[in-house]
Amino acid sequence: MLKKQFAVIGLGRFGSSVAKYLAGMGYEVLAIDESEERVQDVAHAVTQAVSADSTEEEALRALGIRNFDVVVVAIGQNIQASILTTLVLKDMGVPFIIVKAQNELHGKVLGKIGADKVVYPERDMGLRVAHQLISPNILEHIELSAEHSIVELKASSAIIGKNLKQLDIRAKFNCNVLAVKRDGEINITPRPDDLLEEGDVLVIVGRNDQLTQLEQEYA
Ligand code: ADP
Repeated sequence: MLKKQFAVIGLGRFGSSVAKYLAGMGYEVLAIDESEERVQDVAHAVTQAVSADSTEEEALRALGIRNFDVVVVAIGQNIQASILTTLVLKDMGVPFIIVKAQNELHGKVLGKIGADKVVYPERDMGLRVAHQLISPNILEHIELSAEHSIVELKASSAIIGKNLKQLDIRAKFNCNVLAVKRDGEINITPRPDDLLEEGDVLVIVGRNDQLTQLEQEYA
């Protein structure tokens, strides 16, 4: 199977980190920024790095951007350039466009003009940090929808020494324990009578309000 090819437009903190990670994982990455300095900063780490203004259709065409499977638009401050770039990419028929939004309104516009996925890295990281401050036992939080999430809950003293049957999480909170992580291993078929130990991490899916109740009970 052919490996996916990626292009990243805008090499600020977010874009350059996406580009470097993908290239590090062995994918072909074209990195684009109008600033020659930014281009030079990532050139050593990616397949190809070029300086171009992504709002100019001709420049993108010359780079063969249509042939990339996924294009990430990581232009932050300049909302106009971000929107124009997305529009141009969409018109050119790029199969999948992911765009970083500055705020909700920007994200809404991006969705309307056909961005396939809109991400809000600052907002999401802010929520994550805040959530961790309130619930230090929550190691990970993955939003599945506006109402449902998967969390990784570190076993507190209220959990250690008990088994899943005793905790009765499904009946009490309508949440499901998907897996138990222990010493770097993941048990995806935890049994009701397995005793939970210090250091265990429970991977739980449920509705957000019920997960919050569960977190409070086992804080
Ligand atoms: P971050 O918050 O991720 O650091 P920035 O907004 O600082 O993001 O960076 C966005 C990058 O996008 C900058 O390096 C900027 O030069 C680049 N950029 C902005 N407009 C264009 C454009 N029209 N074409 C190409 N690159 C652009």
